[in-house]
Amino acid sequence: MSDKKISAAPSWLGLSDDRKQFLFLPERAEVVRRIFELAIGGMGSYAIANYLDERKVPTFTNSESWDHTSIDYMLRNRATYGEYQPKSFAGGHKKGIPSGPPISDYYPAVIDRKTFETAQIARRQNLANRGRKGNDLANIFAGLAKCAYCGHELIFHRVANVQVLACDQVLNGKGCTRTAWTYEDFEITVLPFLAHPALVERAQGDRKVKLVELADKIANLPTSQEPYAVRVDISVLLKGIIAEMVVHSAGIVSNPRLPSASITKDVRGRFLEIRLWDGPLEKCICIS
Ligand SMILES: [Zn+2]
Repeated sequence: MSDKKISAAPSWLGLSDDRKQFLFLPERAEVVRRIFELAIGGMGSYAIANYLDERKVPTFTNSESWDHTSIDYMLRNRATYGEYQPKSFAGGHKKGIPSGPPISDYYPAVIDRKTFETAQIARRQNLANRGRKGNDLANIFAGLAKCAYCGHELIFHRVANVQVLACDQVLNGKGCTRTAWTYEDFEITVLPFLAHPALVERAQGDRKVKLVELADKIANLPTSQEPYAVRVDISVLLKGIIAEMVVHSAGIVSNPRLPSASITKDVRGRFLEIRLWDGPLEKCICIS
C-alpha cells in the first residue's frame, strides 16, 4: 500500500491511527461472514436485518438497527473479499464510474471469493422468489420441497386463511393433484422426524454435529424468546442438510384433477420422502 492517506474504509474495516492502513476487525468480520451465510441460506436482506436486530448484533454505524439497504450493499460489495475497483469521479459522477482493472488483495478479506459468488446466486434467487421479503419467515422449507407427481416446487400459499404448501402447478391452475398440505401440520410432521435420535445416531462427523444442532434448535423452538431468529437458524441448517424433499400430498395414488377442481387439504395417506446429503430417500409418514 502506498504512503498516501486513506480517506475511508468499508464499514466492517477500521483504519490505523495514521490512516495509512486498513485494520481487520475480527468481530465485524464475523458479522459479515454471518450475513453472507444467511444470504446463502436463502434469506433476503430484510430478513437478515431483522435477524441481526433480534440477536442484538451491534451495527457498524451509530444506527440502532440494521438497515436492509446497507446489508444488500455489503452483499454486493467485492471489497468483502479484498477487491478494490478504482473509480473516476470526472464529469461530476457522484458514485464514480469504474476506471481501470480491479485490484485484488487491496483490503483485508473478510470472506473468500467463492463465498461471495455463491451469495450472488442466492441473492438472485431470493429476489426472484416472491413472498420472501419482510419479516415473514413463515415457510422454513422454501425452495426445498417438491411435488412427487410433477416435480415442481411446493409453494407456500393461503387457502381460506389456512396456510398450506401446494404444488406450483396446482396454484397456477395447470392441474396436477389439486391437493395441499396444511403448513403447520407439515412442520410438525417433518421437524420431529429430522430431530429423531435414530437419525442423529446414524450420522457421523460434521453431519452429526449439524443434526445435533438442528435437533437442539427444534427442541427449543416452542419456548424460545426469539422464535423468529431460531426459525431462521433452522431454515439455514435445513438447506445444508436436506438434499431432496419429495412430497406426496395425495398419497401413493394420485389422480390428476381438472384445474377448476377445488384444492383438497390434508389427504389421508399423504407422506414425504427426505434425502439427507447423499443418503437414501427416507419415508416420513404423517400420522394424522
Ligand atoms: Zn405437482
